Amino acid sequence: MAISTRRFDCLVIGAGGGGLRSALQLAQADAHVAVVSKVFPTRSHTVAAQGGMNAALGNVLPDNWHWHMYDTIKGSDYLGDQDAIEYMCRAASRLVVELEHFGVPFTRLENGRIYQRAFGGQSQNFGGEQAARTCAAADRTGHAILHSLYQQNLKARTHFFDEFFVVDLVTDDEGSVLGAVVIDIETGEPLLIEAKTTLLATGGAGRMFRTTTNAMINTGDGMAMALRSGVPIQDMEFFQFHPTGIAGAGILISEGVRGEGGYLVNSDGERFMERYAPTARDLASRDVVSRAIATEIREGRGCGPRKDYALLKVDHLGADIVKQRLPGIRELARRFAGVDPISEPIPVYPTAHYTMGGIPTNRHGQVVVPVATGPEEAIPGFYAVGECACVSVHGANRLGGNSLLDIVVFGRAAGNHMLEYLNENRYHRGVPEAAIERALARLHRWDRKGDGESVDELKEALAKTMEDYCGVFRTQAVLDEGVDRVLALEARLQDATLKDHSKVFNTARIEALELENLMDVALATVVSAAARTESRGAHSRLDYPERDDNNWLKHTLYSKSGRQLDYKPVRLKPLSVDSFKPKPRVY
Ligand SMILES: Cc1cc2nc3c(=O)[nH]c(=O)nc-3n(C[C@H](O)[C@H](O)[C@H](O)COP(=O)(O)OP(=O)(O)OC[C@H]3O[C@@H](n4cnc5c(N)ncnc54)[C@H](O)[C@@H]3O)c2cc1C
Repeated sequence: MAISTRRFDCLVIGAGGGGLRSALQLAQADAHVAVVSKVFPTRSHTVAAQGGMNAALGNVLPDNWHWHMYDTIKGSDYLGDQDAIEYMCRAASRLVVELEHFGVPFTRLENGRIYQRAFGGQSQNFGGEQAARTCAAADRTGHAILHSLYQQNLKARTHFFDEFFVVDLVTDDEGSVLGAVVIDIETGEPLLIEAKTTLLATGGAGRMFRTTTNAMINTGDGMAMALRSGVPIQDMEFFQFHPTGIAGAGILISEGVRGEGGYLVNSDGERFMERYAPTARDLASRDVVSRAIATEIREGRGCGPRKDYALLKVDHLGADIVKQRLPGIRELARRFAGVDPISEPIPVYPTAHYTMGGIPTNRHGQVVVPVATGPEEAIPGFYAVGECACVSVHGANRLGGNSLLDIVVFGRAAGNHMLEYLNENRYHRGVPEAAIERALARLHRWDRKGDGESVDELKEALAKTMEDYCGVFRTQAVLDEGVDRVLALEARLQDATLKDHSKVFNTARIEALELENLMDVALATVVSAAARTESRGAHSRLDYPERDDNNWLKHTLYSKSGRQLDYKPVRLKPLSVDSFKPKPRVY
């Protein structure tokens, strides 16, 4: 079939912080780069990041990148790969300064240095006193970073395909990725974008849960594309529930609120975190605080008429601090909870927040796959960064402020590696007709209209199922039931149709394609969770409450074909410093 075609050196799929940081590296080196995004670039989810980005600048309290590295490894419940974590923590300070030069207006101290706030899981001196490591632009850090990166890309002449939806990657018989088939959302016209090298930066999959901080667009498209192209995805059972979503709405109240001195109370007015994490209290790691809130409620100490939330107090901080450092939070609390935090506490409950798992990569952003004969191998020319990837720096539990860092560190690293790849691979290879047909068939499947079950109903059912059967606390029976239920929904999706309006808008087709993606990613999550019989980080099993390093200090790899699970070792050896051996994790 004839299809319009455009050719570029590099195709970057996704215009969040990860995609834009990679694209900038490429465009500044005069590579011909296309960035495709299903929403206008500055509406990508990175824009919603509130609290900030970690780097051991030591501007407020003493700090050191080794301490940051230790905290990240401990936070990951020892599942993070220590070489990648070392690389990230070492690069952090330089990249904050670089962002500042790109135009990010970081909040300042009196002495003119960049302000840093305390965040969960941060310590001085390998587990000592609380550290202050998170650089912030008030409580709108992601907004500032994303806009600055977009401006820099415009200046470097990156080519943008705004509001284009990527239907699928195109690959040849050897599994090399040669670009993607996309559609223009406005017109519905398909287009083939051919590239010598392709990067996925499509963000997370929080929309598989009903109550989530994630935007409507976070449907795991890139992870599902990788799965379809034969790449197994890693550690999907580890999904982060953020402790403080606005109860009932799921909207995020940043950890920065507790970093500024806010704390949680139950219906007795008790600061209950003192019981769960005597030292770090409200600034313990997110998995710990989420479980504490869920336990308080389960044991009858929840607040409100239905006793189904905890309260986050900031009224003791004073109006000035709230107005200066948490203006966005105040706005959200007023709008979505109907309370002004200057005088009243905010009702909160854990909400689905961050996909720790994703497409496996090495620290250059290259997508890696296991090979039968030895260590894993990189797929030439194929890259992934950001929340859709798993490098793995977050392991079983991400620390707040480490994701904005992850996207700029590995976005930049992937850009550099792609430039090297381009030096040695100067020509387009030609896309097989069959690959284009495969991608178009996915699209045309949704030309079918009728009175079958609707995509919306199934999407809601999936999100409810994941919330009920793959939430904060898990057991074998509940997870097994979850797998069956998601499989049943997947079967129903095969027969679903779009409504028979005279005109079916592209957005309806796109929502259908997104649900197919979400379904694949949800299945990967619940199947991986049902298999892991231990508790580690965010994966908390009531029937296996302990971490089991003898059997489970390993990464999960889930393949779409046959829903097969494999495992691979955690890289416990850092690049240059001593490794941090697993030990019990207390805060
Ligand atoms: C509310 C909220 C607050 C957060 N606060 C913080 C914080 O304070 N500190 C921190 O470190 N982290 C924070 N995080 C996490 C962090 O913001 C994200 O993990 C990170 O920004 C993800 O960046 P990304 O580039 O990987 O993806 P995103 O920013 O999600 O961008 C994904 C891009 O992919 C595009 N895309 C996806 N699928 C397709 C498709 N099929 N076709 C075309 N385009 C596609 C989208 O259009 C978008 O441009 C927060 C997250 C949330 C949800």
